[in-house]
Amino acid sequence: MENIFEGVIGFIVVILFIIILWVVPIWLGLKWAKIKGVSKLWMLFGIHPFFGWIAFLILRYGVEPRKQCYKCKESIKMEAQICRYCGNQMSQEEINYAMKEYQDRKK
Ligand SMILES: [Zn+2]
Repeated sequence: MENIFEGVIGFIVVILFIIILWVVPIWLGLKWAKIKGVSKLWMLFGIHPFFGWIAFLILRYGVEPRKQCYKCKESIKMEAQICRYCGNQMSQEEINYAMKEYQDRKK
């Protein structure tokens, strides 16, 4: 009987380990998608834990933070002075504000 008990415990530990390995990148990825202002659809890669980690690493280190153009609501680069979709010109103040907001979200 004891062996079965140990087997079950071992099985549960392995399952928990896999779940943690699977959930963590998705959780981190969603967090960073929000911080960087990019689509959360990235984390559909999390359907497989391996790709979940890759998607998270790309989001964390490989993707430039975005802001939303307040005129056309398209997502554009944080430092952009002109919206590439509608040509809206942004003042340095607006850019600084977007940058500051990004820094706050990172905390
Ligand atoms: Zn625009």
